Amino acid sequence: MNDSEADINNRQVMSPLNYTSPSLTVWRFLHVEVDTMAPCPETGSEKNTVDGHITSIESDANGTVAEKVFLSVNLKTGLDPIDESLNFDTQGLMYGRFGDGGRITIGDTITNGLAGNGFTYVLRFDTWGGINLPALVHKQGQQDINGKVINWQGNIFKLANTTGTLNDVYIGGDFFITGVLMHIEQVDPINNSITVSAPANIPFVMHDDDNDNRSMAISLSEMDIVYPQVYYLPIYDNGGVPNVNNTIPFILNEDYDGGRLDPLAQQDSANNACDGFWIAYVSSAYQGMPTEDADCNQEVVTGGCNWSPNVSNEVVAAGGKAAWIFVESINDALAQGECNNCHLGRVVVHEIGHALGLGELNDDTIMSSKSFLPSGTGFADIHIHLLRSRVHSPPGIIK
Ligand SMILES: [Zn+2]
Repeated sequence: MNDSEADINNRQVMSPLNYTSPSLTVWRFLHVEVDTMAPCPETGSEKNTVDGHITSIESDANGTVAEKVFLSVNLKTGLDPIDESLNFDTQGLMYGRFGDGGRITIGDTITNGLAGNGFTYVLRFDTWGGINLPALVHKQGQQDINGKVINWQGNIFKLANTTGTLNDVYIGGDFFITGVLMHIEQVDPINNSITVSAPANIPFVMHDDDNDNRSMAISLSEMDIVYPQVYYLPIYDNGGVPNVNNTIPFILNEDYDGGRLDPLAQQDSANNACDGFWIAYVSSAYQGMPTEDADCNQEVVTGGCNWSPNVSNEVVAAGGKAAWIFVESINDALAQGECNNCHLGRVVVHEIGHALGLGELNDDTIMSSKSFLPSGTGFADIHIHLLRSRVHSPPGIIK
């Protein structure tokens, strides 16, 4: 249109419904560097299992199955860091880190679906079938006795037989519990129990996972849906730095105090960040604090974090730095069905939103403060405005 003779106030399009020419849309390229945390190790101090040996076994009230197994490890103070998850022994009664889906391997036998734990034991209710502790009594020339151990105190193991009858002829024979060999010193046919000369070490390993998917990958699919709504085009080009190592070392828990994660970030693209080249950095991590890792299942879940973000809901703020996504916590929460409309990829959008200076809002958008796992699928109008008003690069530099 020709505005040369018009009044200055009429030189602009006054109504969005009456464009005289196509509206100008400015797209921003957001160069994204994506790192991945190394997989969880099977051994060492950062493994996600607890192991030791069992110390005694208690049957249910009817004496039919093993219901409680006591452990050599204190599941709060014996772990590093100390695990403050609520359990059967704490004031706020909860199922514990190993409840509702945890599992224990004792000797050669796995029991899935533990009910939960106290400080020194794990429990699986009799009505669920108890904890599986297969027993075998063997003596040369005699019929083998098969069954289960339902109680163990000191040197005495009480059995529930499935085949055979326990009596004195088995004295001097072999007794296996979950494949672990001991020697029979005495037999009590009335109590159906065996006294061994010395209890052997019966090892255990426990997992707290509700989801055994050990992938450390993050989902970028929601990035490609949500950011184009505000005319940001994500480009996964490692921030313009080709051929670098995108794996960072594994840590089990972020402690939230010293910030274990940020020093691990390998933002190879940091020096490329400038107002003409915007960069966001995101990496997977494993889980947050031990009390926010979704084990026990009733725990608050922290889906991700972005340290010391300079964010605002009123003005375009500088923004945060590294976006971390707690994939194990999210996958556990999703496995429990705790969150109806959650998506790991929305946590990525949310944390990168902080990197772009957005605060949180008490609403149902993707920047919601109400849930640690955002269920919203888009940005609030104020955030759309702030994102589209941005001129300067996000900080981009972590160290
Ligand atoms: Zn947030």
